[in-house]
Amino acid sequence: MARLDRDKGRIEMLRCQLLDWYAHSRRDLPWRRSADPYAIWVSEIMLQQTRVAVVVERYKAFMGQFPTLISLALASEQDVLALWSGLGYYRRARMLHKAAQFVADHQGGNLPISSGELRTLPGIGSYTAAAIASIAHGERVAVIDGNVERVLCRLSGWDAGTRSGGRAALRRKMETLADQLVDPAHPGDFNQALMELGATVCVPRSPQCLMCPIIADCATRGEHKMPARPRMESREVAHALSIRAGRRPGALSREVLLEQRPAALTVMPGLWELPSLPDAAVPDDQLRMTVRHAIMQVNYYVRIRTVLEDDVEKLLAPGGERRWVPLEEAIGMALTGLARKVLMRSHLLPVSPLAAIAPGYDEDLL
Ligand code: SF4
Repeated sequence: MARLDRDKGRIEMLRCQLLDWYAHSRRDLPWRRSADPYAIWVSEIMLQQTRVAVVVERYKAFMGQFPTLISLALASEQDVLALWSGLGYYRRARMLHKAAQFVADHQGGNLPISSGELRTLPGIGSYTAAAIASIAHGERVAVIDGNVERVLCRLSGWDAGTRSGGRAALRRKMETLADQLVDPAHPGDFNQALMELGATVCVPRSPQCLMCPIIADCATRGEHKMPARPRMESREVAHALSIRAGRRPGALSREVLLEQRPAALTVMPGLWELPSLPDAAVPDDQLRMTVRHAIMQVNYYVRIRTVLEDDVEKLLAPGGERRWVPLEEAIGMALTGLARKVLMRSHLLPVSPLAAIAPGYDEDLL
């Protein structure tokens, strides 16, 4: 069989089959109802390293609060982080916010149109720039995310597990092929179709090849090795849950003790969390709950201990700034995902639609 990248007729056919499949099979996702480059930008940043089921409700809430680039630029960082809570990888939110401020200050609030200009903005790499430019403005530029990488490797029979120097060469081959495949008339739809195929049909384990619109051109048809999953590290930690009656005049709500993570930290700087305990070993009779919480490649096994107000100074580890916060105020704060989860599990915060849609989206209750 002739190589796909040397056969224009086959490439034309593949584009038609993929676009036709996408028109009929694509998921109805909120960001696909908009051609606004700002909306596409927000969705693409949220979708990096976060599952679609998790992003859907967060995206709606975020766009409800910040419907335009200018509204995002004018917001405080804490408000932006609060809306990002549960998505993780908070650096993405900070960079999105900074880039919106840059565009508002220097470019009249209008995002650049070409992928080349988009790449000059803080936090916008080649992937995001190509996604915005092709979907919003029809620029013929290929988008390569993890899903597209997998489809291209399987389509061509390339070993996706190639490492070190071979990895750079593989990446160049993928970019060349993706550039040849992208449909000049419908680059945005084509890019989304390839990503959708990787997300729903050509999935990492057990691809659904019999449902695949491009099986005729596929060199592997499911017979393809996947790179080994990185091993997760495990750590044990403990946090305090301290609740007291509200002190503000007229306040009905109770207050929770929260601690702000220092700004110098590389992971979740500035977010509010439940104060840490110095010893991960909490006696059984004082254990309120145990939660598993995954952050990047680490599984945290977290013990939550109830700590009375009088014992706070004696039992808590030294940490950042602490505040007693009314629960109705805590809802809107930039909480860590773990703090929000524990407060919801304790029925101190309402359960978010996200938790109802995707239970256990980043952890399991033990
Ligand atoms: S035929 Fe199977 S392995 Fe090949 S691209 Fe389609 S789903 Fe992936």
